[in-house]
Amino acid sequence: MSFARDLITWNQLRDELYPWIGESDPYKILLSEFLLQQTRSDQALAYYTRMLHLFPNVTTLANATEDELLRAWQGLGYYSRARNLHKTAKRIVSDHNSRVPKTYVELLNLPGIGPYTASAISSFAFGERRPVVDGNVYRVLSRVMEDATPINTPKAHQHFVQIACELLGESDIAAFNQAMMNLGAHVCLPKKPRCSECPVRSYCGAFSSSMQAAFPVKKKPRPKQHRYFHYIDIHYKNKGLIEKRHMDDIWKGLYQLPLIENRSPHVLDENELLQFLSHHFAITTYNLNEVTPVGRQTLSHQYIHARFYRVQTAIKPDVSKTNYSLVNRENLETFALPKTIVNYLNTS
Ligand code: SF4
Repeated sequence: MSFARDLITWNQLRDELYPWIGESDPYKILLSEFLLQQTRSDQALAYYTRMLHLFPNVTTLANATEDELLRAWQGLGYYSRARNLHKTAKRIVSDHNSRVPKTYVELLNLPGIGPYTASAISSFAFGERRPVVDGNVYRVLSRVMEDATPINTPKAHQHFVQIACELLGESDIAAFNQAMMNLGAHVCLPKKPRCSECPVRSYCGAFSSSMQAAFPVKKKPRPKQHRYFHYIDIHYKNKGLIEKRHMDDIWKGLYQLPLIENRSPHVLDENELLQFLSHHFAITTYNLNEVTPVGRQTLSHQYIHARFYRVQTAIKPDVSKTNYSLVNRENLETFALPKTIVNYLNTS
């Protein structure tokens, strides 16, 4: 006996509730996979039936207007999925002779299709040996193997795909994928796994050590860092200073006004400003015309607290020892800038 054989045999004895399970028509699989992104199967069912009635093949879907498609999708939410589905249908018609591409790699190039959906379509419709790995499958694999690789890290997907490949062996890929998905959705549940009903419990490390609750492992998100940016908006005649961010940090490649970053949200004092301006640009006299209130921008791992200091000077800034450029102010907004700076320039 083997893991894959026991799993597949169990799945074949189950009553399938949903019409897309066991389906091999690539268009129907494509449609169901788009519907099932962020939607439960029972909710997706009525939409699947309606969409197939209205758009029975990829050509009718591609030829539909966006309004017609959105009306059929109405109530399901996440409308970007519907738009991506529409774009994908059009691309299949225009670039693939109205046939859903067969390979994982080709599928990945279509709008709205990520590794999971590409694996599902290529394996279910065309038998490509690509295990599907989603949240449910991560759970099964990490428990069976007692694998503590955090599932919310970039390397997790490839790592668990590799494990799934080893468990798959020579078995039928479509049957294996379907069975893994069903096991994760109906038996290996997050809180109370139904191990007594599980067809692979004799292979399961977490079951034998009673450590089911310890898997899957998730890396704790880093607490968000607070950063304090003090931008010095230097006005010299009708010009301003700007530099490109090169460092390995947020907004790499974007442009910015002269920046002092420190650990404090407090307004810079005269000495700090003068020191910065004289050291970097040989500006020794200036007027500080405005200091804005602090504004906060939230990024995935950081809060940026930004304040702007509007400085007028009659001394031409010396940029020879810096990466800054002196540019006409009306051109500032033509550079790629972080949102915080765009908002400031729009209101200043
Ligand atoms: Fe999940 Fe339990 Fe089956 Fe292990 S034995 S795979 S923990 S349901």
